[in-house]
Amino acid sequence: MTTTYRPEGLPYPEDAPVSQALFDRASAIVPGGVNSPVRAFRAVGGTPRFMAHGSGPWLTDADGRRYVDLVCSWGPLIHGHAHPEVIAAVQAAAAHGTSFGTPTAGEVDLAEEIVRRTPVDQVRLVNSGTEATMSAIRLARGFTGRAKVVKFAGCYHGHVDALLAAAGSGVATLGLPDSPGVTGAAASETIVLPYNDAAAVEAAFAAEGDQIAAVITEAAAGNMGVVAPRDGFNQRLAEIAHAAGALLIIDEVMTGFRVSAGGWAGLDPVDADLFTFGKVMGGGLPAAAFGGRAEIMSRLAPAGPVYQAGTLSGNPLACAAGLASLRLADDAVYKRLDDLAGTVSGLATEALAAAGVPHRLSTAGNMFSIFFTDAEVADYDTAKTQDVAAFKAFFHAMLARGVYLPPSAYEAWFVSTALDDVALEQIATALPAAARAAAEAGGTA
Ligand SMILES: *Cc1c(COP(=O)(O)O)cnc(C)c1O
Repeated sequence: MTTTYRPEGLPYPEDAPVSQALFDRASAIVPGGVNSPVRAFRAVGGTPRFMAHGSGPWLTDADGRRYVDLVCSWGPLIHGHAHPEVIAAVQAAAAHGTSFGTPTAGEVDLAEEIVRRTPVDQVRLVNSGTEATMSAIRLARGFTGRAKVVKFAGCYHGHVDALLAAAGSGVATLGLPDSPGVTGAAASETIVLPYNDAAAVEAAFAAEGDQIAAVITEAAAGNMGVVAPRDGFNQRLAEIAHAAGALLIIDEVMTGFRVSAGGWAGLDPVDADLFTFGKVMGGGLPAAAFGGRAEIMSRLAPAGPVYQAGTLSGNPLACAAGLASLRLADDAVYKRLDDLAGTVSGLATEALAAAGVPHRLSTAGNMFSIFFTDAEVADYDTAKTQDVAAFKAFFHAMLARGVYLPPSAYEAWFVSTALDDVALEQIATALPAAARAAAEAGGTA
């Protein structure tokens, strides 16, 4: 592989021949050429970059171009790419064998670390956030003996059938209606309400509260862009649910172990019954979890009758990566993530303001996104007032100048502690031209 680092000051060419060749091969045999829709550049156009290498704050693609990474694998990599301690932990675990189908010590260590940091009494490890939310919903239904679930428009909880209604992010990016293949029966048991609207939740419970098993919400919404819950919103959900004998499931797959040592619960403690985790807790390998009060968790097989299982659940490599990652994540790390989120979002908003591009910075702890709109964003409808043409131009101008942003206007930007002065300088240098490109493209959708 030849290395063609960006010559000083000049943007990368628009075409990416090696990525293009890989994408052509992939497209022949993998639907859409990608194994998860948000990786495709459908929303922004162009060829998705195939990444070959990651180190600290940097990604290098198959054409040998280097980018500052503000996606961080969609959240997991709070310490940046290939952190030496995480890599060493994975290598050490791999030397002992990759999977046993038996309990292992690493699972106990990781579960203890999660229980120590969060409000949960007990936890079950799984492989993905989707599995965590799917299992939490099953457990809530099994525990309450009820069928219906309340979710919020624009919140994404993985591609679980019952939760793929108004699911934000990937679905919003592609402009898809709710997914075909989700049966009417599955969808009819899901009540979709506007985010941040406690009155709508009260009304739904007044109408059919005795049939509702659970309310599920993102701890802070991050999959329609970042939209923080209004003060007291999550706690109000707990009160409404509990008054009707229903459970509250807080989905911390994105926020967990990112916004604080204890996730969103560390910033905004709420009397929830079940929590889901993923992303950061796997340190870049597939690991996720759900947990909650012992009284509820003890209904899971083999302790109880609600079935849930997984051949690779608690995989030794994933547990090692997750544990190493969490053990590195002390108070100083969270302070640094907060500071860096402030720095990067500050640089971006400054550049957009200077170029006269309408935008709104929206934050939830150290998660943030920039909405290309004048409107205040509190829910999915207002998130959709964005000028997508402006975002597209901005995205490509940043990419050409060596900054990898999420290829969608409906995603959070993620920082890692690995962002150093060189990386920050590259972001600062790219922004003014990207903001000018957004200004030119604005309103042309
Ligand atoms: C990413 C995400 C999921 C799904 O996790 P996967 O590991 O992609 O299945 C669920 N909930 C939230 C809030 C997420 O951000």
